[in-house]
Amino acid sequence: MSWQSRIEHAVAERREAQAFRQRQPLAQGAGRWLVRGDRRYRNFSSNDYLGLSQHPQVVRAWQQGADLYGVGSGGSGHVTGYHQAHQHLEEQLSDWLGYDRALLFISGFAANQAVIAALAGREDRIVADRLSHASLLEAAVQSPAQLRRFQHNDSQHLARLLAAPVAGQQLVVTEGVFSMDGDRAPLADIARVTREANGWLMVDDAHGIGVDGENGRGSCQQQGVHPELLIVTFGKAFGLSGAAVLCSHDVADYFLQFARHLIYSTAMPPAQALALQAALAVIQSDDGQQRRETLAQHVADFRHGAGGLAYPLTDSQSAIQPLIVGDNQHTLQLAEQLREQGCWVTAIRPPTVPAGTARLRLTLTAAHKPEDIAHLLEVLHGER
Ligand SMILES: *Cc1c(COP(=O)(O)O)cnc(C)c1O
Repeated sequence: MSWQSRIEHAVAERREAQAFRQRQPLAQGAGRWLVRGDRRYRNFSSNDYLGLSQHPQVVRAWQQGADLYGVGSGGSGHVTGYHQAHQHLEEQLSDWLGYDRALLFISGFAANQAVIAALAGREDRIVADRLSHASLLEAAVQSPAQLRRFQHNDSQHLARLLAAPVAGQQLVVTEGVFSMDGDRAPLADIARVTREANGWLMVDDAHGIGVDGENGRGSCQQQGVHPELLIVTFGKAFGLSGAAVLCSHDVADYFLQFARHLIYSTAMPPAQALALQAALAVIQSDDGQQRRETLAQHVADFRHGAGGLAYPLTDSQSAIQPLIVGDNQHTLQLAEQLREQGCWVTAIRPPTVPAGTARLRLTLTAAHKPEDIAHLLEVLHGER
């Protein structure tokens, strides 16, 4: 098949399966409101859990950073792109989370790819939760290591997979809070089973950092575990973008030699590193604590009010509250109906989630007001 016909065929297949993806050009997409064209929607699709993307202190820090340093970093961190602003942020993150070191990456996707590519060799085995984020699973598939997937949050299945003979080392991969289901991993059990097998644990806490745990330190602090590799991302509760890998001195030095996404890529702008410091300061402050409490209240109110819906709630206690519908087309129709009623909700379909589990992925944030949650519930109950 020619390039052209192969491409046409693949896209046509997606359309037929009601799985064709399109982007929406928005005037505003993070925060309480989403604006498209001349219409404003209550935004139940953003990962800006604490509303920090619009926080005046964070915005001002980025503006001040741009005044001080200009807008770009000028190169890879290994050449001229690593500034004091990056170094300070790394130090603040490693102190806050209790690690020797933090290394900044431009995205969580890049961090996950880099860590797995730099670590896993031909003789090794990666054992990953089967619902792990695409950035983790794709990296594992591409690595020369063997990949095994354990049943979601099932540490006993994990233990059985780890018990099979392996020539090299084992890396266990999971998330703190799962991105499409909103449930939390049993990290203490997973850490114990991993340790008993002499493996290393890698936790991607994209959805837990800033929100869960004492002072927003995330899922690992909340569950009392200290994985060898902790990935935190800044596109969710931090309200910006970028990521960091938290690890020991030795591992950090190793990544500085072998993590290709770090070495061959332009460092994040130093102004962004300043804005991230400001976001971290908010997360650690009373303001951050109040935002976490507001969010928790919204989650409780939503779950209380959503009893009796045609689509049962999952047991997620996090900001991610999926309503699993099943069928792709039905899910799309529901999302469209919600939009007509002023609520912006994204339909998530396979292959992002397993076949037959298309869903409305609702996210609540501290930027919402109680009336937003009430409005959403009225729409879902067909009272509007
Ligand atoms: C969003 C997300 C990522 C990707 O992070 P980016 O910084 O957006 O590239 C990685 N892992 C998980 C679990 C995520 O939810």
